[in-house]
Amino acid sequence: MTEPLIYELSSSGRCGVFLPELDVPQAALPEEYLRDDLPLPEVSEVDLVRHYMRLSQLNWGVDIGFYPLGSCTMKYNPKVNEEAARLPGFARTHPYQDHCSVQGNLQLMYELQEFLKELGGFAGVSLQPAAGAHGEFTGILMVRAYHEERGDKERNVILIPDSAHGTNPASTTMSGYTMVEIKSDERGNVDLEDLKAHCDERVAGLMLTNPNTLGLFDEHLLEVCRLVHDRGGLVYGDGANFNAIMGICKPAELGFDVMHYNLHKTFSTPHGGGGPGSGPVGANEKLAPYLPGPIVVKDGECDFEHEEHCYHLVMPEKSIGRMKSFYGNFGVFVRAYTYIRMLGAEGLKQVSQDAVLNANYLRARLTGLYPMSHDRVCMHEFVAMGRIGGAPDVHALDIAKRLMDYRFHPPTNYFPLIVPEALMIEPTETESKETLDAFANALIQIADEAVKDPELLHDAPHTTPVGRLDEVKAAREPILRYVPE
Ligand SMILES: *Cc1c(COP(=O)(O)O)cnc(C)c1O
Repeated sequence: MTEPLIYELSSSGRCGVFLPELDVPQAALPEEYLRDDLPLPEVSEVDLVRHYMRLSQLNWGVDIGFYPLGSCTMKYNPKVNEEAARLPGFARTHPYQDHCSVQGNLQLMYELQEFLKELGGFAGVSLQPAAGAHGEFTGILMVRAYHEERGDKERNVILIPDSAHGTNPASTTMSGYTMVEIKSDERGNVDLEDLKAHCDERVAGLMLTNPNTLGLFDEHLLEVCRLVHDRGGLVYGDGANFNAIMGICKPAELGFDVMHYNLHKTFSTPHGGGGPGSGPVGANEKLAPYLPGPIVVKDGECDFEHEEHCYHLVMPEKSIGRMKSFYGNFGVFVRAYTYIRMLGAEGLKQVSQDAVLNANYLRARLTGLYPMSHDRVCMHEFVAMGRIGGAPDVHALDIAKRLMDYRFHPPTNYFPLIVPEALMIEPTETESKETLDAFANALIQIADEAVKDPELLHDAPHTTPVGRLDEVKAAREPILRYVPE
């Protein structure tokens, strides 16, 4: 057991700061700003330091341990990214600076656009969107602009497979389209018959995640794209799972017209807790003119000594406009750019190969004890089921909570929605065989405990400062202000 968390440390009269002596004439403060009473905690310096150190240690992160949170790609974030992002020339630029004085920043943005174009096979990339979901919204607005421009105004449906991430229906609905759900077949692919049944002249497009959230590469991907294109629809790619295929295949060549990248997932920026992230959108020849702007173009060669600047900001020809103030989340661009330059083309490809290898290694070690959603080689993640033979009352949630006692972050659970008792495991490429084995051993031991002592799992976690929380209440009624006892 860890020590209980003591939050109230105030003791009347204690003080952790010394103000310097007043060296300016004393002035009266405006009456309206004065309060009779301001109850702040009275603590010493050491109390204060220990309080925040303890709080920081209650947090879990990839820098502490394994974080196999499926779909979220919680890979290790190399510290060199942070060093690059902190360089004063990047960190201290102001978005209102004249473009002549920020040519280096524009060069970085331009080259990042080019790298993403190359990786995805797209004709154009905009770095504007601030997250994956924002990229989805952007892409769907581009699809709509494309159809409207052609006078094709009857289309109002976006098809979305039932394995999709919750942001897909949300961003589609926000853009004014109606979403229609497409079933998955028993191998985890888009069900071709169901797709055919719904693919008509009302369809503006299909939003598809590939590999999908089951960790499976759609075996009929080319045919799926062809079916939608044949009916005049477009294909949007949710690129959140790009970590599985980077440098191996190009989504544009597979049939995607437009796709977002999650820089904070695939290209390593610390994420979770709300950002900042970045969800650049790539588009093929057909849709590139609609990309949001400004985007960076290169005109000739720069000759800085003679003040000749070659990087410029432009709006694409039929741009849907801006999706974000200024130029997007620049700090994330620096991290992604550094990551790409440090690894190079071969390194990026190996990232994906290792991510897939790690996932399949874990899947193989757990097969037999935990039922798998699909009996297929997986990509960078897989979905197991929290159902253990001989332990009918044990659920995915109990297994997830018990894993915390073994000092592992639980996998994503109860998503994707089409798998009962889902435990979605994404180890990422940055984990060693020793870590993967320790995690597999913990799950194997937990399966044994589930049969012998199910209560141990029902009451888990036992070693954390707090146990099972009321997550809804925590989100709806957060306490964000110090209130003295
Ligand atoms: C993470 C994720 C998203 C949303 O991306 P954000 O950057 O969190 O907005 C969409 N789809 C899938 C499959 C994801 O894993």
